[in-house]
Amino acid sequence: MKALLKDSYGRAIRDLRVSVTDKCNFRCFYCLPHGSPEENAPKSSVLTYEEIELAVELFVSLGVEKVRLTGGEPMLRRDIETLVAKLARVPGIKDLALTTNAFNLAERAAGLKAAGLDRVTVSLDSLRRAAFTEITGVDMLGRVLEGVRAAQRVGLTPVKVNAVVVRGHNETEVADLAAFARENDIHVRFIEYMPLDSGHGWSRESVVSGAEIRRRIHERFPLVAVGVERGSETATRYRFADGAPGEVGIIAPVTEPFCGACSRVRLTADGQIRTCLFSKVEHSLRDVMRSGASRAEMADYIESVVLKKEPRHYINETHFEQPARTMSLIGG
Ligand code: SAM
Ligand code: SF4
Repeated sequence: MKALLKDSYGRAIRDLRVSVTDKCNFRCFYCLPHGSPEENAPKSSVLTYEEIELAVELFVSLGVEKVRLTGGEPMLRRDIETLVAKLARVPGIKDLALTTNAFNLAERAAGLKAAGLDRVTVSLDSLRRAAFTEITGVDMLGRVLEGVRAAQRVGLTPVKVNAVVVRGHNETEVADLAAFARENDIHVRFIEYMPLDSGHGWSRESVVSGAEIRRRIHERFPLVAVGVERGSETATRYRFADGAPGEVGIIAPVTEPFCGACSRVRLTADGQIRTCLFSKVEHSLRDVMRSGASRAEMADYIESVVLKKEPRHYINETHFEQPARTMSLIGG
């Protein structure tokens, strides 16, 4: 048995996020307002399902337990159920999840469940049609809500909802989203806006802090802390004091950084390992794979890359610069 993956600061790597495509059919202003800059990248640069399966097997053999498929919009990759089925058979994965904008989840939730997916996270920043459309660039609130319901019906549970909170767009809606979580037994995760948008529209003033999000919810629905899912999820979690179903999580990477407990690495759609959302460098597992390396050589490569994981991010320092590749390309 190989030594489990650890970085040079002693953090164990348990969580792999795999981006399966850079492309997206939504235009969320905080992510990809003008579409993917890599829209026309050659198809051969993207990992095949067989290559993704091999990469996941290698990471899992080194101690990764949680795998999340993301993007771009992962449901745009043809026949994603085939990949899910392949990964569901990899021994050692304790949690196989997918993050989606849910544009077609209503029709495909049952197939994903049958393929072996454990859970989904749906991005949903507003329950008001006009605000939803303004934020995402598409008038699809109804479809997304249908997707959430379908995921619950087929047992892709607990269904999580991600809401990025941005000043002037949806900060007044956080308590309504918490109400939605209570009424529908959903885990809603509020995320601070990070400087990872391709439109470079991020500003410190637009960040709504985790503390403010907590206060806004607590005023209407008193919360009780239930712990911190460090590393695996990075959210500070709360339940409702009155015992209502559902859960609230607050992910505050800007105002309450949790880098010391990070257990994540990412694999981009074109096979680059990124050891931090804010990495300045990437490491091409794809090139190593395609060079005819043995499994042992690939595993050694992964170990050597993980040792280069950055100690923390520098969002709050004056010299901070946005990484060249943004959220949709990194795999959020
Ligand atoms: N397209 C899928 C979706 O939207 O769920 C998966 C990919 S998306 C990049 C993954 C998550 O990243 C989404 O929940 C999204 O809200 C979040 N995200 C994107 N840009 C962000 C930003 N600038 N700050 C914080 N979260 C962001
Ligand atoms: Fe697309 Fe997801 Fe980014 Fe929105 S957050 S633009 S749905 S990748």
